[in-house]
Amino acid sequence: MPKLIIANWKMNPVTIKEAITLAKAIDSNGLVIAPPFPFLVEVGHAIKKAALGSQDLFWEDVGAFTGEVSASQLKNLGVTYAIVGHSERRRYLGETDDMVAKKVAAALRNGLIPILCVGETKEERDSGETKEVVEHQLKKGLLILNQQPATKNQNLIVAYEPIWAIGTGNPDTPKNMIEMAAYIKSQISNLKSQIIYGGSVSGENAESFLKHKEVDGALVGSASLKKDEIKKIIKIAMRC
Ligand code: PEP
Repeated sequence: MPKLIIANWKMNPVTIKEAITLAKAIDSNGLVIAPPFPFLVEVGHAIKKAALGSQDLFWEDVGAFTGEVSASQLKNLGVTYAIVGHSERRRYLGETDDMVAKKVAAALRNGLIPILCVGETKEERDSGETKEVVEHQLKKGLLILNQQPATKNQNLIVAYEPIWAIGTGNPDTPKNMIEMAAYIKSQISNLKSQIIYGGSVSGENAESFLKHKEVDGALVGSASLKKDEIKKIIKIAMRC
């Protein structure tokens, strides 16, 4: 199965023009582009091969929820994947495991593929709690899959993203990443899941992660905004 690359643009770029130019330049099979909400429609029109992803969603389908965007609205715009529980949302917006669980449920209910982000802080890693933390995030975040057996056959992606490795230029080691990917797989072996890695993936180091059978792809932040860098990562993903 080809490896999947998720380009998480976060709150970049500033203009729609820049977003369209970048989307057209990197458009490839096996790529998911997750632009900011205001650019979803135009980026969706600009791409021919890549799939469209959202960086978040709300857990209700419709109603009085100022500022929120529902999974059903995203689905209607042509979105296929939804990032859920990114550590930046957990950290800056107070997203809890319970909120994340409701978002995973909303994605599945509306036919979106959730990309559930899990990962430990530096302190948790240093005190040897990584597996415990990730196991807890998985158990809570995927509650719906245990409560509603029908959802077990739906596709799901888990992104293992050690928080200390995100945006720091200091990625996890491939050895640790393999161990964690295998651990996550063992925790959810009853589900239809893919496990990807995120945290300072670059054109330089992508192969060291993607060449391993335990990892099904990568979630890429900063490098996904640099045309040549992300193209290099996509090329590596295609041959891994
Ligand atoms: C991310 O935001 O999920 C991420 C992995 O970012 P970066 O690639 O910049 O570390």
